[in-house]
Amino acid sequence: MSFVQQIDIGAKYQGLEPQEILERIAARKKELAETLLILGHHYQQDDVYRFADLSGDSLKLSREAAAIQDKKYLVFCGVHFMAEAADILAADHQMVLLPHLDAGCPMADMSTRGAVEAAWPELSEASGVAGERIIPVTYVNSSADVKAFVGENGGSVCTSSNAEKVLQWALNAGDLIFFFPDQHLGRNAAFALGLAEDEVVLWKRGEPMGGCSKDDLSRAKVVLWDGYCEVHMRSFPEHVHYWRAQDPEVTVIVHPECRNEVVRLADMSGSTEGIISAVAAGKPGSHWVIGTEINLVKRLADQHPDKTIHSLTPGCLCPTMDAIKPVNLLWVLDNLAAGNPVNRVQVPPQIAAQARKSLDRMLAI
Ligand code: SF4
Repeated sequence: MSFVQQIDIGAKYQGLEPQEILERIAARKKELAETLLILGHHYQQDDVYRFADLSGDSLKLSREAAAIQDKKYLVFCGVHFMAEAADILAADHQMVLLPHLDAGCPMADMSTRGAVEAAWPELSEASGVAGERIIPVTYVNSSADVKAFVGENGGSVCTSSNAEKVLQWALNAGDLIFFFPDQHLGRNAAFALGLAEDEVVLWKRGEPMGGCSKDDLSRAKVVLWDGYCEVHMRSFPEHVHYWRAQDPEVTVIVHPECRNEVVRLADMSGSTEGIISAVAAGKPGSHWVIGTEINLVKRLADQHPDKTIHSLTPGCLCPTMDAIKPVNLLWVLDNLAAGNPVNRVQVPPQIAAQARKSLDRMLAI
């Protein structure tokens, strides 16, 4: 589905003092408590995140929200694909609202359904693998349209916690995996499964045959779309070397959306939830350097004053997650109180049904 641009919420909101905004959100939340559930992704800024009834990574939030069926309005403080996943999993009487329509995920937007559909026959012809023996796997950070394509073609969604498991399933299910949109998650998972470098090939958008030779593709087991997360791409091996030189006792943990050179140098890699659990399980007095979005790293530092916690890389803020400001949350809640749900995210039923197949397949693996 395509998202329209966010409308201007007006001068009466933009002129409000920060404290007044927070107080008004708290009051609206109380007033709407019977019908409202606020979901907050870990990368949200603190003054939005503090109002979340449920917090977590994208899939955890969507699944937990769908289980709470007595709440009609799910206000998702996250990005487009998360709100779409919540709508796919939600009951018919539930409505998903995104506080700011500019909150998309640039990485998810790097693989559109049209581009993936166009690449599919090209890959089949160049690799000599019949379409039905190519298994598509999409990271949950993808549009509902792409998830639907994957569902229609016998593939599965994966998350950053289960990418290896899903890739192993796909290796058993077919002859070639087409993985999108995040090349880094795909590469890290493939190497963790023991695949050799020449069995993992990059498909470059816009180039004939994805810039691959027939020879490259004849050896490939996994073909990676060339998407990436610009936030996690800001971490380089030099950052790991810097922190190790500063502090020999440090444990470096990074998200698998980081490039493989960084993941290899780290002590651990893990999904957002994996990072949270690892730090929580760390001994008092332990030292951590974390390679992921800065709002999460700062929050972990606040929650664990008994540990020393730093961000691996300066400036790792996700700008689209940050598009949701407290005032946007207030604007959505004020409109709800006036009986006017705004910024609804609604996946068309046929797309939702196909996308659901790819999510259900993942849950069955
Ligand atoms: S941190 Fe990266 S993957 Fe996550 S929403 Fe931002 S751009 Fe997308």
